[in-house]
Amino acid sequence: MTSALRRKAAQMASAATQCFSYSSLPATWALRQRGGGASVLRLSSRRTFSVSAAAGFDNQNREYVIVGGGNAAGYAARTFVEHGMADGRLCIVSKEPVPPYERPALTKGYLFPPDKKPARLPGFHTCVGSGGQRQTAEWYKENGIEVLYEDPVVAFDGKTQTLKTSSGKVLKYGSLIISTGCEASRLPEKIGGKLPGVHYIRDVADADALVSSLGSAKKVVVIGGGYIGMEVAAAACGWNLDTTIIFPEDHIMPRLFTPSLAKKYEELYQQNGVKFIKGALIEKLGAGSDGRVSSAVLKDGSVVEADTVIVGIGAKPVVSPFEAVGVNPKVGGIEVDSLFRTSVPGIFAIGDVAAFPLKMYNRIARVEHVDHARKSAHHCVETLLTSQTKAYDYLPYFYSRVFEYEGSSRKVWWQFYGDNVGEAVEVGNFDPKVATFWIDSAG
Ligand SMILES: Cc1cc2nc3c(=O)[nH]c(=O)nc-3n(C[C@H](O)[C@H](O)[C@H](O)COP(=O)(O)OP(=O)(O)OC[C@H]3O[C@@H](n4cnc5c(N)ncnc54)[C@H](O)[C@@H]3O)c2cc1C
Repeated sequence: MTSALRRKAAQMASAATQCFSYSSLPATWALRQRGGGASVLRLSSRRTFSVSAAAGFDNQNREYVIVGGGNAAGYAARTFVEHGMADGRLCIVSKEPVPPYERPALTKGYLFPPDKKPARLPGFHTCVGSGGQRQTAEWYKENGIEVLYEDPVVAFDGKTQTLKTSSGKVLKYGSLIISTGCEASRLPEKIGGKLPGVHYIRDVADADALVSSLGSAKKVVVIGGGYIGMEVAAAACGWNLDTTIIFPEDHIMPRLFTPSLAKKYEELYQQNGVKFIKGALIEKLGAGSDGRVSSAVLKDGSVVEADTVIVGIGAKPVVSPFEAVGVNPKVGGIEVDSLFRTSVPGIFAIGDVAAFPLKMYNRIARVEHVDHARKSAHHCVETLLTSQTKAYDYLPYFYSRVFEYEGSSRKVWWQFYGDNVGEAVEVGNFDPKVATFWIDSAG
């Protein structure tokens, strides 16, 4: 049956929609409706007791709703399609104006100067980052997936299984996947955190604003020596800008790199003309007579001139308006089990916002990296749609790529697996390669 026919059939079925409450049924049973309109009961591992049998989008009922249109949402949508369960059933509610994309590109190819072939959408929609199909707006339409753009969820009621969006739309969900990600941590407005010329990067609009500033910038200050700061500083080198990185620690990437590894990486940046101010805290950002940022003032009183400032000081999980679902007090984020189920039946959380059991290290963790966003999305949707009960067993993986623009004298890519606990042993030389192993007490 073609997509159009399936959608039509689903719409006809939705006209006779009812909501069923299965509180008396075992948790493993859920109502499922097939494309032709016939409903079947099948075994499922989801704990949804109350699901809507609606399909099609012409009333309030939605069988599956994903809140958040980011990296994890794109990969979740792909898994729904692979299972033939998207068409007429899946709705994505997004705050952004474009379909899900591979967010890491924003501080990499997106920031290349105009003459060095910068990445632009639709080039990096999910799932190109893992070699998958490029899911453009047309892809969602063709697969019968409803995407509500620029209409974030502002209210949630778990009892009635309803969501309200900023435009006033009310959606009743059967199953809900929360994938609201993180937001960039900001400097307070009273110390200049909102001045024109001060940038934070989380989405395409932020990256566009930064590209526009870089076009006329001369002196760039990057606050923070984490991966966002390091990637942005490398990009600023591509624009030949006077760039200074300021951070409070002794070396860059303090949570991940050993001092020895950091030294080698810092030298690479210095060879590209980047200056470092270490062990320094920001007192405030100063403004010029035009109201734009003009300097970074440090706690020791020294002043660093800047016409563009990029702040990369971490991110916070976006749990609002889902706090009632259960926030982990230690790591933040929505707490889930090893199948991404929250404490509320039928509600799941994935990606950056999920606080999940990191099995191999026996602790609850949140992982703010794209590999986990992709894999958690897949695992969660498999749980929801099939009888999978396999616990998510994740090996943390993270990567970064810098100086990759055309004409760069050295392009560098690093990968990190696992946990940096134990004694660090370095092998090789950074020229051309270096590896560090952390060996724990058990060897
Ligand atoms: C600039 C940048 C560079 C990165 N580089 C790397 C890298 O090199 N390597 C790596 O491993 N990871 C990297 N990451 C991290 C990676 O991008 C994230 O881990 C990944 O995007 C998480 O996916 P997610 O879907 O959980 O969150 P996101 O991709 O952030 O998506 C969340 C979405 O939810 C939306 N949203 C929030 N609230 C609501 C609401 N109430 N209603 C509707 N929508 C809402 C947001 O607008 C956003 O679109 C980078 C992140 C950034 C910001």
